[in-house]
Amino acid sequence: MPMIWPADYHMHTPLCRHAIGEPSEYAARALQLGLTEIGFSDHSPMRQDDFDDWRMRLDQLDEYVEKVQKARREHPALIIKLALEVDYLPGHEDWIRELAARHPWDYLIGSVHYVSDSWAIDNPYKLSEWKARDPWEVWTVYFDRLAMAAETGLFEIIGHADLPKKFGFYPKQDLTPLFEKFLISARKSNVALELNTAGLRKDCKEIYPSPQFVKMMFAAGIPITFGSDAHATEEVGKDFKAALELAHSAGYREYRTFSQRKVQTARLPEIR
Ligand code: ZN
Ligand code: FE
Ligand code: FE
Ligand code: ZN
Repeated sequence: MPMIWPADYHMHTPLCRHAIGEPSEYAARALQLGLTEIGFSDHSPMRQDDFDDWRMRLDQLDEYVEKVQKARREHPALIIKLALEVDYLPGHEDWIRELAARHPWDYLIGSVHYVSDSWAIDNPYKLSEWKARDPWEVWTVYFDRLAMAAETGLFEIIGHADLPKKFGFYPKQDLTPLFEKFLISARKSNVALELNTAGLRKDCKEIYPSPQFVKMMFAAGIPITFGSDAHATEEVGKDFKAALELAHSAGYREYRTFSQRKVQTARLPEIR
C-alpha cells in the first residue's frame, strides 16, 4: 500500500526573496510524492515594504495569487489551497484584517518571528541579538506574543510554535509554564497548531513543536495541521513520516484542513 500523507499547508514562493521554485514545481513534486493536498503560505506583505527584506512587496500580492492559481490549473489532480504566513506583531491587527479581505484565502497562518520591531529571532544574520540576551527573556516575550496572536482570532493556524529553539538557545528554566499558558489562549481561540518539519533542518534538529509540547497540545484538546515550510521544491512534504509518527505518539487521530477559512476535520493517515 502506498503511504497516505496529510496536507502540506506551509510552503513558500520566490516572491519572499529567500525561496526557490515556482508553485507549479512544488505542486508537481507533491504529486510525485503522492500528496493529495497542499497549501501555499508565503510571507505576507507588510503595510510598509521596507519593513524587512524577506517577504513579498504589497504590489506583488496579486502576482502571488496568480502563481497559485496557475499551479491549480496545471495540476488539477491536486487540491491546492491559497494562504499566507502572516507575521503577528502587536498593533498590526488592522493591517492583517485588511490583508485578510483582499483575496479568498483558505486559511491564514499566524507566526511570530519578531519579538521587537527590529528583531526576528529566526534571522540567521541576527544571531548576535541572541548572544546579547537571556534566552528566558526572549522565550517569554515570544510566547506572550504567540498567545496574543492566537487570541486575535485572525488566524486558523499558529506556525512553528516553539520557534525560539531554532538556533539552540534554550533557557535553563523549565519551559512547561510558558507552553501551558500559551495553550490556554490557543484552546480558547480554537486555533490549530502546525507540526512543522523545518525544525529538523535547523540547529535544533527537532520538529516544531517538541514532543513534550505536542503531548501537552493533545491533552489540551488543540487541533493540528502539518507543514514542511518548504523554501525549495525538494522540501515539499519533507519528513512527513516523522511528523505523522509524532502526532500518533502524542495521541492524535485527526488533523484539520481549511477551505475559504472554514474548518474541516480529516482522519490522520496511518503509518505504514
Ligand atoms: Zn521564509
Ligand atoms: Fe515562519
Ligand atoms: Fe514559513
Ligand atoms: Zn516559516
